[in-house]
Amino acid sequence: MFGAGRIKIAVIGATGSVGSSVLDICGMFPDRFQVTALACRSNASSLLDLARRFGVSYACLFAPSDAKNCEASEFKKYGIELLTGREGLESIASLSDVDHVVFASSGTDAITSLQRALKSDKDVSLANKESIVAAGQWVMPLVRRPDQLRPLDSEHSAIWQCLRDEPQSLVSRILLTASGGPFRDWTPDRMRDITPADALKHPVWAMGAKITIDSATLMNKGIECIEAMQLFNQPASGVEALIHPSSQVHGIVIFKDSTMKLLSYKPDMRIPAAAALAWPDRIPLGERDEFRAPEMREWSLNFSRPDTNRFPCLRIALDAARVGGAYPPLLIGADEVAVNAFLKGHIPFLTISNIIERTLEEYSGAKPSTLEDAIELISLGGRMAESIITASGG
Ligand code: NDP
Ligand code: MG
Repeated sequence: MFGAGRIKIAVIGATGSVGSSVLDICGMFPDRFQVTALACRSNASSLLDLARRFGVSYACLFAPSDAKNCEASEFKKYGIELLTGREGLESIASLSDVDHVVFASSGTDAITSLQRALKSDKDVSLANKESIVAAGQWVMPLVRRPDQLRPLDSEHSAIWQCLRDEPQSLVSRILLTASGGPFRDWTPDRMRDITPADALKHPVWAMGAKITIDSATLMNKGIECIEAMQLFNQPASGVEALIHPSSQVHGIVIFKDSTMKLLSYKPDMRIPAAAALAWPDRIPLGERDEFRAPEMREWSLNFSRPDTNRFPCLRIALDAARVGGAYPPLLIGADEVAVNAFLKGHIPFLTISNIIERTLEEYSGAKPSTLEDAIELISLGGRMAESIITASGG
């Protein structure tokens, strides 16, 4: 019967860029996937549109407006139960009507829902890298079975797929590729005048604003190296970033016998989304032209080392990864604030890295010993970055 055995999906961050890619796949394959719950931060009207389109039973607004009761009655008109706040988000992650929870929200508010989903034995697809970087220590031990946690981030999806049926203990090195962003070949002089509009033009991917700026500074790649350490249980020395302008290869695993696997697909987030949602199956996306990769004779496989003098954010993130402890959560908090300040025109592009580095240098406290400590360090990193920006007249 149509609908029997469909995978019931909840999408947290449904109104964002990755959320849309995930919902696109669910909409293309309604015989495989049934969306039963959706969540976002505060965009009630888009959430209601999506909830109606997919016929979901539950929706969650993390930060409802003052008109919370009106919002709830709007949803109720269509038979949708509206949940709110952190509790609402945690409930969505553990509903009996959900088999698979997708974490496609930005920021770190969904960390406790991620924990709840894993504890409730849901399958989980994870795009949200901030959570795993800041709190991996309190998330990864909750993974109960192989492939319960499936990376959605394109490079990590590639590594995860290279590791299908390969034990992590046989890995010698993991390489994550980066397009290099819009300023890959810019001189330091030219980089002085970068505007938010310049930095928001990514050459390969269309993404949310925060990750697009992180891609332009290469902070995104640094954060992704820490994400890979957590997801694939590697030391900082086991993960490396490589510039690969054509973005045809997303991730490379070198095994102990020096055999290498590379994974390639057209840069479109719907492809790793399909891989994560359908695992262990593979959806026949290749039947559609829009997903087809270029012919191999058109490939250009160039790889080079990133220039951490022009892109110091990558070096800062890798240093934070090596030292560990308080530094990854502080980095996440400081980066969020510095990127926002740049987007608002308060600081120049090249100052983003200074703000983050000074935040880390000025910290002299302890390592986090609980998830609450780690969450407090994220917000402390943000507050320290704010005061450095204010003191410097930004
Ligand atoms: P967007 O800014 O496009 O979207 C963010 C989404 O998260 C929105 O739906 C937003 O809701 C929602 N959200 C924010 N805070 C909360 C919260 N507290 N509770 C519930 N929902 C919340 O971001 P992206 O889609 O670009 O990125 C999302 C995450 O995925 C980030 O962690 C990013 O690093 C990662 N990622 C993104 C990729 C991409 O291609 N975009 C690729 C790989 C990883 P609202 O609309 O109400 O604000
Ligand atoms: Mg990525």
